[in-house]
Amino acid sequence: MDYDQFSQTVNETVAAKKAVDDFAAVQTDGTHFCPRCGRFTVKDRLHTNALSRYATVYICDACGNDEAMREWMGTPIPLKDWAVAKKGVTE
Ligand SMILES: [Zn+2]
Repeated sequence: MDYDQFSQTVNETVAAKKAVDDFAAVQTDGTHFCPRCGRFTVKDRLHTNALSRYATVYICDACGNDEAMREWMGTPIPLKDWAVAKKGVTE
């Protein structure tokens, strides 16, 4: 990875973290899509969903299980690959 690639990865990660944090701030407002997979799978009672290991935000149960498995395998999905961080999903 050269410097430009490194810079781009850092910029994408910073933007992704902001997108996830911005989403977390409004998540309590009856928003039921999962910021990680983008499906409408987050349950009404927010605290009964999985809390992400990588951001202070609730994700659906399937993503919670997937995060746990990926953590165990050492292959987490970077925040920049989350649905909420991908351009167009939240617009
Ligand atoms: Zn999900």
